[in-house]
Amino acid sequence: MTPLTVGVLALQGDFREHLRVLGELGVHGVAVRRESELADLDGLIIPGGESTTMSRLLDTFALREVLHDRLRTGLPVYGSCAGMIMLATTILDGHPDQRSLGIIEMTVRRNAFGRQVDSFEGALDVAGIDSPVPGVFIRAPWVESVGADVEVLARVAGHPVAVRQGAALATSFHPEISGDRRVHQFFLSLVTTARR
Ligand code: GLN
Repeated sequence: MTPLTVGVLALQGDFREHLRVLGELGVHGVAVRRESELADLDGLIIPGGESTTMSRLLDTFALREVLHDRLRTGLPVYGSCAGMIMLATTILDGHPDQRSLGIIEMTVRRNAFGRQVDSFEGALDVAGIDSPVPGVFIRAPWVESVGADVEVLARVAGHPVAVRQGAALATSFHPEISGDRRVHQFFLSLVTTARR
């Protein structure tokens, strides 16, 4: 089989870190900034960064509609942190003109942990991964509620921080900067299954 090709939305945020992880895992990573770069992907990653800016740039680069179409029709997707916010159906504490893509049926609260502590690290039990995963949280969202088809994979203080709906995965934390590759490997298993 030809190697997987996975795009990373590269408008803003820590897309380089995701591209580096993909390279380490033997996957062909593509920085996506224009419509043509979405054409031959087996999956897509939306990185951490700033979801208000990312939302604005999706419109500036005329990518919102085509990206939404590809995701809605089943392209596997993984969003970390700001990427999780972009995948939600509803955003709380967002900027008034901020719009998400509505791919995972969930309500997320931006900067949710920030009221107590801005950024932190901790070992996290994630369903489907056999030992705790390092969780790096940076002005992270948490999930306030999920739809019936959404599986919660991890929680912090009772709040979901990793969720999956079909081939769409989202985490509040940043495995792309933790050095632990198992969340990316889990996503790539969803990508492989979808390609069959
Ligand atoms: N707080 C950021 C936002 O609202 C997300 C932070 C991150 O991606 N590390 O988009």
